[in-house]
Amino acid sequence: MKRATAIVLALVLAVSLFTACNSGSSSVSSGARYKAGTYTVTVDGRNGPLTMEGVFTEDAIESLTVTSHSETEGISDGAIQDLPQQIVDAQSLQVDAVAGATITSEAVIAAVKDLVEQYAPAYSGEYNTTMISDTGDAITMGLEVGADVYISGFMMGGTGHTYMTEADLEATYADHTTPKTSVYLNPLGLRVNSEDPIAYTASACYVNPDGPDYYWAILNEEQAQSTGYIQYIDEIMANGGDAYKADSLDELANMIRMPAANLRYSMNRYNQFCENGVDKDYGKSADYLIKMEEGPWYAVKATMTYFGTVGGLVTNENVEVLTPEGTAIPGLYAAGEASNGGFFNMSYSGGFALIIDATMGRIAGTNAAKLAG
Ligand SMILES: Cc1cc2nc3c(=O)[nH]c(=O)nc-3n(C[C@H](O)[C@H](O)[C@H](O)COP(=O)(O)OP(=O)(O)OC[C@H]3O[C@@H](n4cnc5c(N)ncnc54)[C@H](O)[C@@H]3O)c2cc1C
Repeated sequence: MKRATAIVLALVLAVSLFTACNSGSSSVSSGARYKAGTYTVTVDGRNGPLTMEGVFTEDAIESLTVTSHSETEGISDGAIQDLPQQIVDAQSLQVDAVAGATITSEAVIAAVKDLVEQYAPAYSGEYNTTMISDTGDAITMGLEVGADVYISGFMMGGTGHTYMTEADLEATYADHTTPKTSVYLNPLGLRVNSEDPIAYTASACYVNPDGPDYYWAILNEEQAQSTGYIQYIDEIMANGGDAYKADSLDELANMIRMPAANLRYSMNRYNQFCENGVDKDYGKSADYLIKMEEGPWYAVKATMTYFGTVGGLVTNENVEVLTPEGTAIPGLYAAGEASNGGFFNMSYSGGFALIIDATMGRIAGTNAAKLAG
């Protein structure tokens, strides 16, 4: 269950960034935060389904009510009665689970997460492997005192092409990566990157600001077997996940709702590169250029993982936090992922984060000490 909380909290961070990035101005506070409406979700509690109703205005979580559940009376009362109100009061999912009813509390938080997915779908279904304690507090606190937010916020990632399982979340660099000998196609059926990329370039290629980020790994039986990836495909299929098998490419395209002509085109072009040993489009290493002509075919949906944020509060060269008018807020400094939006341009240069974080932190500390005298 701790893991479930981690996913929830990571999504909260994603949502706060989404809100920051889509407010239509350089400040989150001026735009609508939610799609107003009343939503109902049902999630698994400890003893069975738990249903919650949420009412949202454009700016606030108006109310959250658990409308039905089968949790144990007495033990769960605190969570069911108090936690939704705590979330409403805080206007944030970052509230402490009620002691003694942890699992029920987490179910309540999960219900809110589902509501979030309904009104802020752009980041739903995406995964973040940062610290579970990082939930965007720096941005929230800065906004409360009039700070400006970088409008180009995005996520760093991914850490390889990974299909997500609980195991992947526990081991960020897990081996469940889609094989480099497969062909990665975007939802339109087009190849947009090498399949043996540096992770950061890959995530930039597949990132889709208007919806979930994913691609399809296409491979045939021969590659599925020879790479050993078939065991994961079997596992995904057994769990009802997004892995599909078909005898023909057209049938496969139909299953994953990909334009069949694009799938055929992409595979034909790729096979030509394999024949010549040169990937003229994306420079994939010849070691992985293995022709695939015979079925059966597999398509496996793979999701980006994100391991950091890019954006945060706007700062100047002294690491002082600025207002939208460009005035420094006295005594307020932001460093690292709380304020790195000025260093990147919609793409993360791998390995730079720690250097930036440490440098900004040092400058912030020095200046704060000077200010304190
Ligand atoms: C798997 C992985 C691999 C990475 N690899 C690299 C790499 O190779 N090279 C590189 O340069 N970068 C890498 N990064 C990115 C780098 O680790 C981060 O950019 C960096 O750690 C961010 O530092 P930070 O100080 O800004 O934030 P953090 O290190 O996240 O520190 C923020 C701290 O604030 C605490 N906190 C949050 N909210 C509150 C609150 N309300 N009150 C008090 N405390 C709070 C958190 O608990 C945390 O301790 C990687 C990240 C991950 C996840």
